[in-house]
Amino acid sequence: MSLTLADARIVTTDGIHDGWLTIEDGRITHVGRGSAPRPGHSLGGRHVVPGFVDVHNHGGAGGSFPAGDPGTARDAIALHERHGTTTMVASLVTDTLDGLARAASALAELCEDGLLAGIHFEGPYIARSRCGAHDPSLLRDPSAQELAGLFKAARGHARMVTIAGELPGGLDAIRMTAGEGVIAAVGHSDADYEQTLQAVEAGATVATHLYNAMPPLGHRAPGPVAALLEDERVTVELINDGVHVHPAMLRLAYEVAGPGRTMLVTDAMSATGLGDGEYVLGPMRVRVEDGVARLVEGGSIAGSTLTMDVAFRRSVRELGLSLPDAAQVASLTPARVLGLADRVGSIDVGKDADLVVLSDDLEVAGVMRRGAWITEP
Ligand SMILES: [Zn+2]
Repeated sequence: MSLTLADARIVTTDGIHDGWLTIEDGRITHVGRGSAPRPGHSLGGRHVVPGFVDVHNHGGAGGSFPAGDPGTARDAIALHERHGTTTMVASLVTDTLDGLARAASALAELCEDGLLAGIHFEGPYIARSRCGAHDPSLLRDPSAQELAGLFKAARGHARMVTIAGELPGGLDAIRMTAGEGVIAAVGHSDADYEQTLQAVEAGATVATHLYNAMPPLGHRAPGPVAALLEDERVTVELINDGVHVHPAMLRLAYEVAGPGRTMLVTDAMSATGLGDGEYVLGPMRVRVEDGVARLVEGGSIAGSTLTMDVAFRRSVRELGLSLPDAAQVASLTPARVLGLADRVGSIDVGKDADLVVLSDDLEVAGVMRRGAWITEP
């Protein structure tokens, strides 16, 4: 089965080209300029960008990945697919070790089905003083031995662990995680500048939602933000929802890290795609008002109701990124971080046919995943 998409404005890393592409068996087999050599499905001159890659996502459409229920997790995945996310990591929040192992084992099934690109343990090895929406009573000091148990429960699908490196055992846990080929991320951390550099030296390569749940940038106490931005080994997550971080600080991070070390994430929770109301995030109760999720107890921001298409659009409109740069921070850079850039993240021959067709006002007009339309434009 071969499908040609014609009259497309194809967004690639080196620019935007009018052209066409052919898809066979779920992969892109040709990308050409000008008019297609044979009739195909016309996209009417609309932009096509690579499917979005979200490395930090807790759920949506009422489904919460931390609940470890494959049925509602599928609803969440389907919601984000309709918003253009074709590769997604499921993020768990702090819970008991048993609870985490159970959820990881349930979600491993969806990884094996190709619906998820892995599992992210955002807790429990994080700082009490920066725990945000995580249950402080369940936090633990990092333990390489416990992590090995969680990785086993995830059956090889653990992709990322967020660790506060300054905690006792933190650097060992980062070394062990990186040594197992799992991404070690710095986050929910009270580390200073020097301690953060030690975490990177130990093998951490990602900043979990830069700025959020860490000490702020200070001119005499630069803290983790400066360390994570300036170290070339680190890629920073940004939540671009207009709530978590001021656009000026997003622009500042992007100016330093550039499209190659910046990735948009949603940090979406179960209310995403639904209305305001009461929800849960792991063991915590959350109230959503005007689309902003906060803990019922204490009022900490508790994830977002963001989808990647909105984050992408905001990066063009609020941050001033070009479409190719926006596509890089929404797709190619996170794909590279996940070690999947040979398969996804850009519109190139040999890669999966994961595509988002955009309307003139950058709304999602169509989504294709592995060569099959989720939404046909
Ligand atoms: Zn999160």
